[in-house]
Amino acid sequence: MTMDSAQIKFQALRLQRFYMAQLNYLITYTVICASWLAGQYQASAPMLAVHIGLGVATQLGFYWLIRSGRNLRYRDPSLTSGQIIVATLLLTYLLAYLGSFRGSLIMVYPIILMFGVFQLSRREFLSHSLLALTGYGSLIAYDYIYNPGTQDLPLTLLQWFVLACILGWLSMFCSYIRELRERLQRRHHTLQAHQETLKGMMGQLQNLATTDALTGLANRRYFIDETRRRMALLGPRQQLGLALIDLDHFKRINDLYGHAVGDEVLQRFAQLARDKLRSDDVIARFGGEEFIILLSNCDLETLHQCVERIRQAFAKLQFSGLPEDYSCTLSAGLSVVRPEDDLEERINQADQALYQAKQGGRNRCNTHQAAYA
Ligand code: GH3
Ligand code: MG
Ligand code: MG
Repeated sequence: MTMDSAQIKFQALRLQRFYMAQLNYLITYTVICASWLAGQYQASAPMLAVHIGLGVATQLGFYWLIRSGRNLRYRDPSLTSGQIIVATLLLTYLLAYLGSFRGSLIMVYPIILMFGVFQLSRREFLSHSLLALTGYGSLIAYDYIYNPGTQDLPLTLLQWFVLACILGWLSMFCSYIRELRERLQRRHHTLQAHQETLKGMMGQLQNLATTDALTGLANRRYFIDETRRRMALLGPRQQLGLALIDLDHFKRINDLYGHAVGDEVLQRFAQLARDKLRSDDVIARFGGEEFIILLSNCDLETLHQCVERIRQAFAKLQFSGLPEDYSCTLSAGLSVVRPEDDLEERINQADQALYQAKQGGRNRCNTHQAAYA
């Protein structure tokens, strides 16, 4: 049977609890041996060996169940109920041979039941307590019927009553612990839910802080941060392509056809540029009608071809708010970024190249001289 890491952890915990239970057995058997030496245990040495052997055999069985993973087939893989029932029956069997010394060992019953405090429901806990009380009660009854005069009846009945009170208290304590545990679990879940909400809000905030609301593109801040991050990852001879794009006579569109049409042009440009770029390229809205593009690992020629493709496709776009023959154009300034560069300086160069493109008559791409170096 294959187990995931959580199950392996739980199995280790179950084994730990199993070893704790063994300590309980060890102490009980030590006391039994001591009482045998003191002449209180009314059985022969072989009989004593059989009693201890029974305990060892049942525990080996439980150990095998846990080690082989067969315990996972049960509703409660910790096998708590089974362990408690077996221990209670074994203890009752041992006490049958203890005579008047028996009363000193009744405290072992509550100790056995303590193992169920975290695991058992109140009903289970009460039924196990009842088993202990019935077991101990039947020893009293057996002696009363078959060995009359060998026990101090009022005293043994009082002992039984004390045991009943302790087990009653323990089952109340058990429900209290369970309730406490469930309350803590609920609180833990609420905290987890809050944490998830907070994470979601952080994501939204991050999105708001790095995205342009109108076009859905990244904003200037994100572009600068991302470019710096990519520059740091560049190898010695690698470079990034940089293009600053400005829509031509955009103010005229706003003035003649309205701001909403201007917004539509900006959004359509953003969509088109995104479609034309590869997924690992970066495009951002740099300002009003200005955009900036970063092409990963590319030479000037590729950069030029890519921006030209965008320019030509943009000029062919039709807009619902503009006359059919209206052609929106753009100008672009190109440069490159190398690992050792000052990014601001490279952006300035692209801006200068863009200015030259505007001066040269717009609707064109122009590369800054420094990019050829
Ligand atoms: P040029 O060809 O020299 O670039 O001329 P231009 O008209 O495009 O440049 P200019 O800088 O004179 O005008 C840019 C205009 O862009 C001015 C501004 O109102 C407009 N703008 C900036 N942001 C937005 C926006 O979000 N929506 C709209 N509709 N217009 C915007
Ligand atoms: Mg401008
Ligand atoms: Mg412009």
